[in-house]
Amino acid sequence: MGKKAKIEWGCLVFFISGIFLFLGAGNSEDASKPLILQEMTWTDVKEYLSASDMVIIPIGSTEQHGPHLPLGTDSYIATDMAKMISSRAGVLVAPVVLAGYSVYHSGFSGTLSLKPETMEQVLYETAEMLIKHGFRRIMFLNGHGGNTIVQSKVIHRINHNTEAIAVALGDYARGETAPPKDWFDQHAGVGETSIMLFLEPELVHMDRAEKPKIQFTPQMRKYLMLGRKHPELMGIFWSLLATPEETGKGGASHQLSSSGVWSFSDPKLATKEIGERDIIKRVESAVNFIQTWKQVLQEKK
Ligand SMILES: [Zn+2]
Repeated sequence: MGKKAKIEWGCLVFFISGIFLFLGAGNSEDASKPLILQEMTWTDVKEYLSASDMVIIPIGSTEQHGPHLPLGTDSYIATDMAKMISSRAGVLVAPVVLAGYSVYHSGFSGTLSLKPETMEQVLYETAEMLIKHGFRRIMFLNGHGGNTIVQSKVIHRINHNTEAIAVALGDYARGETAPPKDWFDQHAGVGETSIMLFLEPELVHMDRAEKPKIQFTPQMRKYLMLGRKHPELMGIFWSLLATPEETGKGGASHQLSSSGVWSFSDPKLATKEIGERDIIKRVESAVNFIQTWKQVLQEKK
């Protein structure tokens, strides 16, 4: 059977199963239910693979997010977004790795962290299994800035060692549209709190949200001033932050912030509307990316 014929047959199976799903559920909402690997049976996955070889792997963290947001914030953001993208683009979502690389947050209770090489290996072996089953387009969706380096390495490894194509589905680790447009609103601040008010409002404790005291070391202040004079040097300032306490750079969370929040703003300024705008924009760009990738290969599903 030619590749095209196989895809068409796959689409037909998918279409027919869609009708049954629709009839079985009795309403159209379930027709766009997200496709979550752990909620599917092996026969569901086999059927999915006859129509598509795409998969999203969300990556998150379990780390302190100030006194007002849950430790799972980044995992909730990555998973919730993956579900929204799946509903719209019909792409399967594989399980999220619940801990990320977060050692610099471990001065606050409850933070978990995997070594970058451990996390890379877990993600790579997950990808290997997915590839064994027939997935060929692997899209990582990262909800935590500290994972970016791991994500890049695992993507490189998949692209250079297997027949699959791996990409990052945008950079979702930080809020971009959150006013006030303060240059320092990096973690559990207005941006991230707004996103959580939209996605998981029952897990947000706005009564505990507070503006933190931020403490930069003399070295940080020096590079910040130099970076303002010479913008090409600004990266040096940023490389001092999010560093483990043992490095002596003063960039661990508990050294930098009184509450674990990294922001010059008050997270109380967060609103559901800001978060909604931010997430909808990112989901739309991811859906557009996936649909375009499907269209250029003339896939019907
Ligand atoms: Zn976060």
